[in-house]
Amino acid sequence: MSKNSVPRVGFVSLGCPKAASDAESILTRLRAEGYEVASQYDGADLVVVNTCGFIDAAVEESLDAIGEALAENGKVIVTGCLGAKKDGDGRGIVEQVHPKVLAVTGPHATEEVMTAVHQYLPKPHDPFTDLVPPQGVRLTPDHYAYLKISEGCNHRCSFCIIPSLRGDLVSRPIHDVLREAETLVNAGVNELLVISQDTSAYGVDVKYRTGFVEGRPVKTKLYDLCRELSQLDVWVRLHYVYPYPSVDDIIPLMADGLILPYLDVPFQHANPRILKAMKRPANAENNLERIRRWREICPDITIRSTFITGFPGETEAEFEELLQFLDEAKLDRVGAFAYSPVEGATANELPGALPDEVREERKRRLMEFQEDISTQRLEEKIGREIVVIVDQIDPEEGAICRSEGDAPEIDGLVIVPEGGEMEVGKFYQVRVTDCDVHDLYAEPVWAEE
Ligand code: SF4
Repeated sequence: MSKNSVPRVGFVSLGCPKAASDAESILTRLRAEGYEVASQYDGADLVVVNTCGFIDAAVEESLDAIGEALAENGKVIVTGCLGAKKDGDGRGIVEQVHPKVLAVTGPHATEEVMTAVHQYLPKPHDPFTDLVPPQGVRLTPDHYAYLKISEGCNHRCSFCIIPSLRGDLVSRPIHDVLREAETLVNAGVNELLVISQDTSAYGVDVKYRTGFVEGRPVKTKLYDLCRELSQLDVWVRLHYVYPYPSVDDIIPLMADGLILPYLDVPFQHANPRILKAMKRPANAENNLERIRRWREICPDITIRSTFITGFPGETEAEFEELLQFLDEAKLDRVGAFAYSPVEGATANELPGALPDEVREERKRRLMEFQEDISTQRLEEKIGREIVVIVDQIDPEEGAICRSEGDAPEIDGLVIVPEGGEMEVGKFYQVRVTDCDVHDLYAEPVWAEE
């Protein structure tokens, strides 16, 4: 046990925002029970490694992190997506590579992790000596926070193994989500990032059950959730939204300024045959028409999407159809991944696997093609006054901010060189003066919002 006899747990967290949200819930429990938490192995009595198992590179990174924790500390508990991954014979990957780990759980398993921690490092005598703040322990800065509304996914996209790792969709009760959102806002959060595997499906598993929030009936449904969150008077940003018809109802809320005019919609492709082979949700929707309608209702909407290049069987003509789609859709932000065969994904059995070079070359072409479109979209903002939130003050660069169209970590920035006096986490009005491919440059208008 550490010198001051308070048991200390080292915590290493890898992976996506959903994994970070799992990590926050485990860290919150550890702190609530009086454990000390450290971000390194040194002096820790035990280490928890929260892993990612999405693509092969992430598996390798996670296995390396476990190996390092075993070498440096020796007492290691593994949780997260890789923990749930099995080989063809049903044997756990982690257990096979690192048989010395003390316990292995899958994702979203706070209770199991805590049981393992209690077994190998008993709880401190007085659990109230180190009370946790009401908003829990978060990995994000004080002014924004992820709000996870559901776990798992009912789809079976052929390139993805998340449902086999995280299970079918389970929506969190609406009162629970809203209570957490309120606690976060009371603790100083000014931007809530709504996440899940499939945000538009929120409530499907419970048939949009009516819950009660302070005695009022509220449906477990994305539209109702957005309306309720908008009452908190902070930025509300939606991630991982699929283009179902029901999403059309959310856009007027954006147009009315109730939630941010920002939609992160992972389209993944534009060709109907490929979308079908991918088994994508809403693959029969006319997405160009839908985007046109969204922009008609909310002209300021920022649309971000991701695409996969070189999916098995993708022909040159089908890839060009994707470029044509980008040309017409004029999306604001685009990310691309060269298809990577994830172990266990059904897409690996599809005929027509393409060589690595072709997948990579198409990704490069797609990104180059999109670059001009993204730049043009940013150029249209030059001269306009916009509201930004300040993420950081840099002594050289000034205020590093984000606009309504920029999600933290994944989109661009708004750099305000004369913004040294601005305060982190606050909103300001600025005038856009210039841009490059990703970022905007602006001058302060010096009225705090
Ligand atoms: S929607 Fe598809 S890609 Fe997303 S988590 Fe579900 S199965 Fe995976």
